[in-house]
Amino acid sequence: MTAVTRLDYLSIFPDYFQVLHLSLLGKAAEHGLVETHFWDLRRWTHDRHRTVDDTPCGGGAGMVMKPEPWGEAFDELLGTEPDPEIHVVVPTPSGYPFRQRDAEQLSTARRILFCCGRYEGIDHRVLEYLRTRWTLHELSLGDYVLNGGEVAALAITEAVVRLIPGVIGNPESLTEESYSPGQEGLLEYPNYTRPVSWRGLEVPEVLMSGHHGRIAQWRHDQSVEITGSRRPDLL
Ligand code: SAM
Repeated sequence: MTAVTRLDYLSIFPDYFQVLHLSLLGKAAEHGLVETHFWDLRRWTHDRHRTVDDTPCGGGAGMVMKPEPWGEAFDELLGTEPDPEIHVVVPTPSGYPFRQRDAEQLSTARRILFCCGRYEGIDHRVLEYLRTRWTLHELSLGDYVLNGGEVAALAITEAVVRLIPGVIGNPESLTEESYSPGQEGLLEYPNYTRPVSWRGLEVPEVLMSGHHGRIAQWRHDQSVEITGSRRPDLL
C-alpha cells in the first residue's frame, strides 16, 4: 500500500487552500494518497487582536511577522525534536528558484509543512530555527513579488502532488513533459489534436504520417528550437 503524504499549511488565510479539494489534488486526498491540514496562524496568538505582526527592527516600511505564533505552531504540529524527514517549505521571493527537480525531491517526502508569509515576510529567526530542526526549503516561485506565500504554496503543492505515484492516471504523461528526463530537461514540443484543419490552420503533416521515427525527430527538433529561443539557459 502507498504511504500517505501529509501536507500542512500555516497561514493567516487558511481559506486560500479550499481549492485543494478540487480536481486531481482533491481526488488524491479522496483516494488516500495525500492528507491535507490547514491551520490559521492566529490560533497561536494570545492577545485580543490576535496579532501576528509588528514593526521592523531598525525601522522601515511595512510589518514583519512575529516569531512567537510560528514557534508555538511548530511545537504543536511538529514537536521540538529534530527530524530531517520532515520538510518545511517557506515560499519567499529571496529563496532558491523552485524547479522541477525540487518538485521531484519533495514528491518523495512523507510530511511537508508550508509556512506562508505575509507583509514584509517572517522574522528571520524563524527560518534559523526551522533550519536546525527539519529540512528547510526556502523557495521562490519567480522573479516577482506576490502579496503572500499562499499562492506559491499552492503552485508548489500542485507540482509536487502530481508526481506522487497514483495521482496521475497515466504515469507516462509525466515522462515527456517540459523539464522531465524524457524531454532531456528541455521545454516540450507543440501539441495538436483533431480536427486536422481548423480555421485555416493545419496540424503539421509529419504528425499525421504515422512514421514514429520522423515524429520523434520533429518533436525533438521543435523542443531544441523552443528551448533555445525561450530558455537558452536550459540547453
Ligand atoms: N519583503 C519581501 C521581499 O522584498 O523579499 C516580500 C514580502 S511579500 C510582500 C510577502 C510574502 O509573499 C512573502 O513572505 C512570501 O511568503 C510571499 N511571496 C512573495 N513573492 C514570492 C515569490 N516570488 N515566491 C514565493 N513566495 C513569494
